[in-house]
Amino acid sequence: MELIINNLSKTYDNGVEALKNVTLEIPKGMFGLLGPNGAGKSTLMRTIATLQDADEGSILLDDLNVQTHKHPVRRMLGYLPQQFGLYPKMSAELLLNHFAVLKGITNKLERKQIIEALLHKTNLYDVRKRNLGGFSGGMKQRFGIAQALLNNPKLLIVDEPTAGLDPKERNRFYNLLSAIAEDTIVIFSTHIVDDIKELCTKMAIINRGEVVLQGNPLELIEQFNGKIYQKSIKRSELESYKKLYNVINDKLFLGKPIIQIISEENPRNGFVPVDPSLEDVYFSQINN
Ligand code: ADP
Repeated sequence: MELIINNLSKTYDNGVEALKNVTLEIPKGMFGLLGPNGAGKSTLMRTIATLQDADEGSILLDDLNVQTHKHPVRRMLGYLPQQFGLYPKMSAELLLNHFAVLKGITNKLERKQIIEALLHKTNLYDVRKRNLGGFSGGMKQRFGIAQALLNNPKLLIVDEPTAGLDPKERNRFYNLLSAIAEDTIVIFSTHIVDDIKELCTKMAIINRGEVVLQGNPLELIEQFNGKIYQKSIKRSELESYKKLYNVINDKLFLGKPIIQIISEENPRNGFVPVDPSLEDVYFSQINN
């Protein structure tokens, strides 16, 4: 199973070009879509999830055209949007049962078995009788995944799933997604660079509606070997360094500014070479 996106473009009525010729090949496994706020990630995900149309281009799930065959695609699709409303006074088990009925799982025994399996899978079985209003952010997101998995999807789309989760909940959530990705295409978006490196076999960086880089995270990092240098500077020097060098990142270390630059040759002048990180790859594309 593979998702092939070809030259997808979308301009909103207000003139914002949210997607510009987006072309991506997404195989089974975890695929991370990384980009700053407003880059076009949600637009892309909603379009793949058949919830809105593009102006141009195509999306193929194997040989199924996603835009012209929305109904069969929806049967193979699970989607967890960024904003996911829950009924706070309902228990997880009841609401899941309700969603299952809506998704057409009419056989009561089958429904019970599916729901039980999903509650176990998402680690919510012990709290299944509790009202959703009392769930933590992580529990709510895991519930969101449980409902997205009701129809046993071949393609799971999750939009910014870890926003607002603490590191422990984030880890737990990503472990769940990784397990699902063993036999499913899982696409998730994030603006958090660290979320991608260990998790994804493939990733794309999207900026201002365009895919600026795609590939395996570790291979993308490798391309920057020997090209990243850093130097501790004075705060007042930052602007002049920005004029002289290709500064991709400036951050504080023990309260002092450190700049990272990208350079084909050793710039000397007090710069030291450092191992590239995914953050360097990201900022090299985003800050341009
Ligand atoms: P991301 O998910 O990466 O934050 P979005 O896809 O939400 O990006 O947005 C991409 C761009 O399209 C932004 O400039 C946003 O303001 C704009 N946009 C998103 N949805 C709409 C809409 N329904 N109407 C007009 N502009 C929109």
